[in-house]
Amino acid sequence: MKTLIDNLPEFTAGSVWLAGAGPGDPGLLTLHAVNAIRQADVIIHDALVSRQILDAIDNPERLEYAGKRGGKPSPLQRDISLRLIELARQGKRVLRLKGGDPFVFGRGGEEALALARADIPFRIVPGVTAGVGGLAYAGIPVTHRDVNTVVSFITGHTINGDHEDVDWAALSRGSPVLVFYMGLSRLATIRDRLIDAGRAPDHPVALVSKAATPDQLVIITNLADCVDAAETSGIEAPVIIAVGEVVALQSSLDWFDAGELGADAPFNPAGGV
Ligand code: SAH
Repeated sequence: MKTLIDNLPEFTAGSVWLAGAGPGDPGLLTLHAVNAIRQADVIIHDALVSRQILDAIDNPERLEYAGKRGGKPSPLQRDISLRLIELARQGKRVLRLKGGDPFVFGRGGEEALALARADIPFRIVPGVTAGVGGLAYAGIPVTHRDVNTVVSFITGHTINGDHEDVDWAALSRGSPVLVFYMGLSRLATIRDRLIDAGRAPDHPVALVSKAATPDQLVIITNLADCVDAAETSGIEAPVIIAVGEVVALQSSLDWFDAGELGADAPFNPAGGV
């Protein structure tokens, strides 16, 4: 293992690495992500990078926040990309650290394109995405033999009635398991559309808040009751929503003890959706 760690790549000055930090537990950082954190001159992170990870970073003056803060002015995507380019042109080793995986609903593609266009050398470091790893921490496998051969990842962000780009009938028919990111505020619409598309009102739903952190909260409910369950539990973003029969496995596979990550280090992303 030592040679493996010794042979990780050198972070060259004037380059940008776009890395995923995983859903929360620092143990889910990849070796490439840790290697990047060790060498970076500046670390531009978003609100979904967990407190446990941020607190573990040496020389925290390297940290710069670029998340989106609910309600407060937030840097525009273009400004973030320009900042990455500006710092790289100053000869810095720039780490762009994002929650989960940078290429899964994380706008990493846009940032990488901006870097490519500006001729800035970059590297992509994939991370454990919340819709897979976060659900695993809740005891929910996204695929299970006999349940599904297809799983879909959907953003709730664009589910708002007028500009909906989801084909609900096709989704419901073709994908037994559905995983929604950014779906909490659209839960009533998700419920209505799926029931209209033929899913039973008692079809299983899991709401997983702050997965892989000391504050992980898992609510097992069903389509008909999920909105009430979310309200009465006071569940808070970030929340990943799983719909499908795999949710029923949770009662047997609930393995994670959130206390192991230290309850004195709560995960309170500044923004979140
Ligand atoms: N790039 C990220 C996703 C960013 S979109 C990834 O790959 O995981 C933001 C959404 O991700 C949130 O609204 C929520 O649905 C989900 N999310 C991210 N981290 C989470 C966590 N620790 N627990 C639950 N949901 C999380």
